[in-house]
Formats: sequence, C-alpha cells, structure tokens
Amino acid sequence: MSQFFDIIVIGSGPAGIFSALELADKGLSVLMIERGRELERRKCPALDKQIPCVRCSHCAITSGFGGAGAFSDGKVTLSSSVGGNLREFLSDIELEKMFNHIMKKLLEFGAPERIMGTDTEGVDKISFEAQKYGIELVRSKILHMGTDKGFRVLLNMREALISRRVDLHLREAVEDLIVENHEVKGVKTSKGKYFAKYVIMAPGRSGTEWAFEMCQKYGIVTDTNPVDIGVRLEVPFEVLKPLTDVLYEPKLVYYSRSFDDRVRTFCVNPHGVVVPEMTEDVVTVNGHSFTYPVSDYTNLAILVSTRFTEPFKDPVSYGKSIARLANLLTGSIIIQRYGDLKLGRRSTEERIRKSIVKSTYRGAVPGDLSFALPYRYLSSIKEMLDQLDRLAPGFADDGNLLYGAEVKFYSARIMVSGEFEVEHMKNLFAIGDGAGITRGLSQAAISGILAARSILNRR
Ligand SMILES: Cc1cc2nc3c(=O)[nH]c(=O)nc-3n(C[C@H](O)[C@H](O)[C@H](O)COP(=O)(O)OP(=O)(O)OC[C@H]3O[C@@H](n4cnc5c(N)ncnc54)[C@H](O)[C@@H]3O)c2cc1C
Repeated sequence: MSQFFDIIVIGSGPAGIFSALELADKGLSVLMIERGRELERRKCPALDKQIPCVRCSHCAITSGFGGAGAFSDGKVTLSSSVGGNLREFLSDIELEKMFNHIMKKLLEFGAPERIMGTDTEGVDKISFEAQKYGIELVRSKILHMGTDKGFRVLLNMREALISRRVDLHLREAVEDLIVENHEVKGVKTSKGKYFAKYVIMAPGRSGTEWAFEMCQKYGIVTDTNPVDIGVRLEVPFEVLKPLTDVLYEPKLVYYSRSFDDRVRTFCVNPHGVVVPEMTEDVVTVNGHSFTYPVSDYTNLAILVSTRFTEPFKDPVSYGKSIARLANLLTGSIIIQRYGDLKLGRRSTEERIRKSIVKSTYRGAVPGDLSFALPYRYLSSIKEMLDQLDRLAPGFADDGNLLYGAEVKFYSARIMVSGEFEVEHMKNLFAIGDGAGITRGLSQAAISGILAARSILNRR
C-alpha cells in the first residue's frame, strides 16, 4: 500500500468530501482519513433504543463517513448571512455562484429539488409580523434534503470518491502532523505514517480538541469564536406551520431586553425528532427531520450567543462545562415542560406524561434546566419564547418540552490565508467547522472546494 500521496485530507465531512472530489477529478492521488465508521455502520444506540447516551468512543451522530452531515437534516442554506464566515474570503456575488455550484452538485448526487423560502410575498409577510415583536427574520433560501435523502447523496458521493481512486481509510484517527521547518510533510495515524505535498485539515466540530492540540503543538495562531448555548424546544407541528410552510427553517433573531443578548432560532425540524449528540465527553441535544413526517411535532433550538472578551479565551470549555452540568444532573440530556420551568419546579416522568407534546427522544431524563443553565441564558430564552408566542401562538405553551443543554461549540478559529493555507505552516490547509471558519453544510462544502482550487492553482 502506497504511503505517498499528492494530498491527504483529514476528515470525511462535507468539507473533506468536496475538497477530495475536486482534487481527484483532476487526477491527483488523494488519501482521505476518517476516524469514525463506515456510513452504513454508523448507528446511535441511544437513538435506536431510546435510552440515555451510552458515550461511544466516536459518536455515530457526529463522526464517520459523511461527518456530522451524515445524519443532519440536510438543510443546505443558500445564503451568505448564515452558516459561517466565508464572506471574509469571497464577495457576495462570488458566494452566490458557489451556492449555486454546491446546489447543482448535490442535485447531481441525488438531492431532491426542494427549495424553500422562495415565496417572496409570504416571506415579506412573516418578516413584517416578526418586526412588530422586535424579532428580525433572516432571509435565506434552503435546499432541504432531509436526513434520509442526505444519506443517499452521501452514498453516491462515496461511490464517486471510490471511482476516482480516492484512498479512503476509515476507523483510523490522525494523531499528529509531520512537520519540518514550518512545512507539513504528512500525518501520523493510529496505524502508521503517510506523506504528501499538501495536507487538508477538515476535522469538524468533533475534532475541535484535536485541532486545537495541533495548533498549540506547532505554534499555529488561533482566535476565539462565540459559543451558542440554549435549549431545544419541541412544539406541536401546527404551532409553527404558518412559518415552516413558507420558510421551512425560520431564522429569527431577537435581542433580549434583560441582557441585550442575541437570541436566535436554529435548526428547525418540522415533523422531526430530537436526538442526542456527543462531542468529546459531553452529551448535548440536536434534532433531525426527514423528507417525510415522522412525528406530529416541530423541534428547534433557541440559542444565546456569547463572544467572551479578554482575558477569557476558552468559550469551548465554557460551553462544555454547562453541558457537563446537565449531564451530571441526569447522566444525559435534561427534559422539562415549559410550564414546570416557569413555576420553578423540576419535571418528573408523571408531569412529562401529562404534556400534550409527547417527547420524540425518550432517552432524555426529566429534571430542572435552571440547575444547569445560567440565569442570563434562561431569562433571555424565556423572553424570546414569550415574544415568539405572539408571532406564533402556542409557542410558549406550558405543555411544550424543553431539552438541554444544546450547545454549539464553534472551534477555535485557525488563522488562514485567503487560500485557506494555515498561517506560518506551509502546505497545510484548514477548512470547515473544525477550523472555526464555517458552521453549516453549505459553507463547509464551499470551503473544501476553495482549498482544493488553491492547491490546484499552485500545481
Ligand atoms: C444532528 C446534526 C444536524 C445538523 N443539521 C444541519 C443542517 O440541517 N444543515 C446544516 O447546514 N448543518 C447541519 N449540521 C451541521 C453540519 O453537519 C456541519 O456544519 C458540517 O457537517 C460541517 O462539516 P465539516 O466537514 O467541517 O465537519 P464534519 O462534518 O464534522 O466532519 C469532520 C469529520 O472529521 C473526522 N475527524 C475529526 N478528527 C479526526 C482525526 N483526528 N482523524 C481522522 N478523522 C477525524 C470526524 O470523525 C468527522 O467525521 C448538523 C449537525 C448535526 C450533528
């Protein structure tokens, strides 16, 4: 087996896959290394058996071929204002072209042509209504693949990688980079050493700690990103139907009166299910939906963004500490009825049973979110729920369910050039969520293509 390649790609999420496809298309030899499992073998026991998270060594939801994207809802955002920082690299016109390119590619790989947010009149109406309650609607078109169709797209992409002779090493973790005089020469994995002229790091959020460790070891400069902390809400589908029918994912932003914090809706899953997710050693909550209805509910995250200032520089650890508190109290994710939270009492199995909303993740443990989430976050979340209740009556109903903690850890931002080459480290490129540059499928994929094109230009 050859140990020498033109390019090594670390991670097989959307960023890694799109970069490998672009490079292999031009006939270059590519080795893709992924520490998680094969797509079909990625099974989450907690989800299958509806039990609390069993803490697998590599979380099947976030790791394995396809990356975190494999079981994501496949909502491909086609707007530069959300999902990452690529506006720093491309103009809006160039980004628009890239979104179209990504969409075309996904359709070629079998994504359904289901684009939401195109009914301008409907969108204007929602935007106007939201403004009355101090809420801003972020306009964004979305290609919705659904977890099921997204899975098929990935199967087709894997076929394409194999047919272009990309060497795909699964269940093999990159442990270290091989570096000489500030120039990357290859990688050391759990199974051996591989050498290449160029290395692309695309480890995603689940690889945040590893990437940070590499940055510290090799003196790579990083910057901090904000951390988003909050809860996942599960409400009857009909409550959000007027919004989800038009937008699929209403992206709403509110600044709380109590703390002037930015609170937003995120990852809306109509007719979807709530799922656990593991990042390193902490269990947090997330959501899925399919192209067909699997529940009578919609789940979505309500997140509060915090960008810490000097001297604190470790928002990821802060987010993890909050998630760990929730894990400490219940061994898993906390579930609480909104009515119980308002009354200042914990939820119990019996109280949860009385809810009109029947939980779609029975592995969550009834408890009290106010023991885990700081007052600042809870009060901002409550404020936004009350405002949203005016926009979509029923949003803040006592019987709705809250799950926590939901934490979006945005990796430390690796400082890269306009070509995505890591500063002071020749021929090492950093892309996607793990580099702290993107926060979603479409921008992660675009960063992969751009890094690949930078390498092709050099050759
Ligand atoms: C449940 C869920 C739902 C989501 N829904 C959506 C959605 O609807 N729309 C959206 O835009 N985004 C969604 N996201 C986020 C989206 O999946 C990510 O933004 C995207 O996958 C990031 O792509 P990436 O390639 O940068 O990283 P990832 O997809 O995280 O891939 C990185 C890969 O690298 C591997 N890796 C890490 N470290 C190493 C190492 N040292 N050696 C070898 N391999 C390593 C990991 O195992 C992983 O498979 C969702 C995420 C989750 C978890």
